[in-house]
Amino acid sequence: MESDVDLPCPTCQSEGCLKLLSMSSEIPYFGEHTQITISCEKCGMRQTDFIPSEERGALSFTLSIEKDEHLQARVVRGSSGTLRIPELDLEVSPGTQSTGYVSNVEGVINRFIDIIRMMMRQIRADIENGEIENKENLEKLFQLEMALTALAKGELLGDLSLEILDPKGHSIIGHDDAVKKELTAEEVALLDPGPAPIIMGSEDVE
Ligand SMILES: [Zn+2]
Repeated sequence: MESDVDLPCPTCQSEGCLKLLSMSSEIPYFGEHTQITISCEKCGMRQTDFIPSEERGALSFTLSIEKDEHLQARVVRGSSGTLRIPELDLEVSPGTQSTGYVSNVEGVINRFIDIIRMMMRQIRADIENGEIENKENLEKLFQLEMALTALAKGELLGDLSLEILDPKGHSIIGHDDAVKKELTAEEVALLDPGPAPIIMGSEDVE
């Protein structure tokens, strides 16, 4: 279902450019939910989120990646989800432009690799510009890239885990081996809440 949204775009502030697409469906482990995508025709801003039909509260899921099938486990990342690979001290927090997506563990690892490669390109550019103090960081990123590439290929099973933490409970790792936990108020306070919702709650978009 597509409809116009009578609100200014949060990114470019233009009026009358926002469209809302909502779709109800069912994802294993995640259940019945409404997928909402808000997009701006003018600047291309796009934000997707997954609103479960039942409130779940703040949740985390942790999956120790031990076998090939774990790489295929479904991941729903809501726009407020923080992803971590704790053993490598890696974290992707939502930020203000975050958008949700559905992928699998392998796909999430590949997104981590993309971010690391982007950082490596930046550091190489800095080095070319005469800043040599970044060489150590480049070496560290290179090690991370190798570890994650091996993990995505199923060559580093049993050592690493993927964690997703979401103050709104809109994110999951869908596998029987994933450990689900309720987050405490203290843990929630330390998380980046993600972009402010453009539209509140699922009841507004029926
Ligand atoms: Zn816009």
